[in-house]
Amino acid sequence: MVTTEKGSISIHTENIFPIIKKFLYSDHEIFLRELVSNATDASQKIKSLSGLGEYTGELGDLEITVKLDKEAKTITISDKGIGMTADEIKKYINQIAFSGAKEFLETYKEQTTEQIIGQFGLGFYSAFMVASQVEIITKSHKDEPAARWICDGSTEFEITAADKTERGTDIILHVAADSEEFLDEYRLEGILKKYCRFMPLPIKIGETHINATEPLYTKSPRSLEDKDYLDFYQALYPYAEEPLFWIHLNVDYPFNLTGILYFPKVKNEMEMNKHKVQLYSKQVFITDELKDVMPEFLTLLHGVIDSPDIPLNVSRSYLQADKNVKQLSDYIMRKVADKLNELFKESREAYEKKWEAIGLFVKYGYISEPKFEERAKDILLVKNTEGKYFSTTEYTEFVQAAQTDKNNKVVFLYANEPKKQDFYVSNAKAKGYDVLEFEKNPVDDYFVRHLGMKLENVVIRSVDSATADKLIEQEIKIESILSDDEVTKLKDGVRTTLNLGENEVLTEAMSPTDMPIQVVEDEMFRQFAHMMPNAGGNGFNFTKVVVNTNHPLATKFLANQEANADAVWQAYDLALLSLNKLDGERLTSFIKRSLSLIS
Ligand code: ADP
Repeated sequence: MVTTEKGSISIHTENIFPIIKKFLYSDHEIFLRELVSNATDASQKIKSLSGLGEYTGELGDLEITVKLDKEAKTITISDKGIGMTADEIKKYINQIAFSGAKEFLETYKEQTTEQIIGQFGLGFYSAFMVASQVEIITKSHKDEPAARWICDGSTEFEITAADKTERGTDIILHVAADSEEFLDEYRLEGILKKYCRFMPLPIKIGETHINATEPLYTKSPRSLEDKDYLDFYQALYPYAEEPLFWIHLNVDYPFNLTGILYFPKVKNEMEMNKHKVQLYSKQVFITDELKDVMPEFLTLLHGVIDSPDIPLNVSRSYLQADKNVKQLSDYIMRKVADKLNELFKESREAYEKKWEAIGLFVKYGYISEPKFEERAKDILLVKNTEGKYFSTTEYTEFVQAAQTDKNNKVVFLYANEPKKQDFYVSNAKAKGYDVLEFEKNPVDDYFVRHLGMKLENVVIRSVDSATADKLIEQEIKIESILSDDEVTKLKDGVRTTLNLGENEVLTEAMSPTDMPIQVVEDEMFRQFAHMMPNAGGNGFNFTKVVVNTNHPLATKFLANQEANADAVWQAYDLALLSLNKLDGERLTSFIKRSLSLIS
């Protein structure tokens, strides 16, 4: 017999509920996840007891149902799990479930919201986020009478006898006036699909079955085929393009982790983070906001990871600090690197074919995570303007003979806008140099700098950072036919004629048949601008004008600056024109000058 008992839950503040409500506001919907998780746990327990022979009754089907009664304004979560006796309710609900709330309140005095929410699994208690009254009707698997517990959101509760005859628990939520949004079958179905789609026992709302109780990642990789993985991917991301390949994770030491990580085709930054990795704990969805939790480049992957070592009810700031999560990230990083190395060794040709789609990811990891850098350094590819791929070691060997400078450094030349830089690229090639090709995006920008720092005895510079003769500094020098004084005078004269700044004009003794004036992009300034993104805007100019002191125009200009001013302008504009950098009025006046020369 359960005697009616009224009591008071030992929390010393009456108004704990409004506080919890307020703090958990944005996450109210997780009440359903919590209650369905409890129902699942209770059902798993009866299954284990039965397995151990400690429960000999009929197990029946262990489906969990969620029922909505719009008129009564109730949501009922029912299971056929172990149930609770009246004493167990007092122990587990009044004491354990509420102790979390009590602790919550105590901590609340000293901490910030983020910290509080992160630390407490409110579990059963979260029901009060949406309910003004919560009722438990439960019949234990033990031979004891059913009991009914009811609590109206104050700290008072009541336990009475109930006439439930079937084993299990019904949690009845009397939905509060400000939470009536949850009295909607579609809303509930949506929440269940979000959090419970992989839960291990069947869940039903109305006639709808919510979940796949054995998601693919829980199965043995040996029993699976490519098609299974592709189908699972499709189910996760219905509109996504097929992934390139995947890793099935399955560890149980030193921590538990299962999951499948897919490599999507990442062609540009727009596509980054469109689909997210989903984090589960024992098949219960936790979050897909992993940006600050895992190294950023890993969040480019897709798929599911599941680890029981990750607590439910966690905020991101809490996840970040969690030791298990850190270990997990490191492990995943290693697995990802291993997989890439394996593909590289398996077939170089196939790996190169995938590079377009995975290069961005690999480079991103290489520049941002030292631990990944070490593991990825041999599988990084660079591509030259002919479309041929090299590892960095191979490339060093490839260009060494022709591109070693006087300091014994191997110079890598690159273009990140090969079409625009065609003039420089062809000049470099004419000298027998090879040119690498990169994209003009932040990842490649950093990657280039990073390579320059990491590769020993290698200097990397843009193909337009100097005239072809000076790209790779060698001992042999072309003598200037002008004296030092004349060179200074030439430099000053060109500067005033072209209205350029103090450091914008350089001189160089080139072959007399080279162009009289060339324009280059200063590598030092470019790096500087790169380090200070705010200075790198359009206002920042790293263009330099290089005057060929051996060209006949230089001599003529020295003899009579005024008479040759137009010719200097013409040579300057010609240099810009060859780089597609001449437009507007400047282009018009260039054409006019050219016409007057012809006529
Ligand atoms: P947790 O699940 O983290 O232990 P909860 O506050 O969610 O914390 O639940 C407290 C306890 O109440 C559980 O440990 C369990 O013993 C009991 N309980 C909650 N829901 C059920 C249920 N549906 N069936 C049986 N026992 C339950």
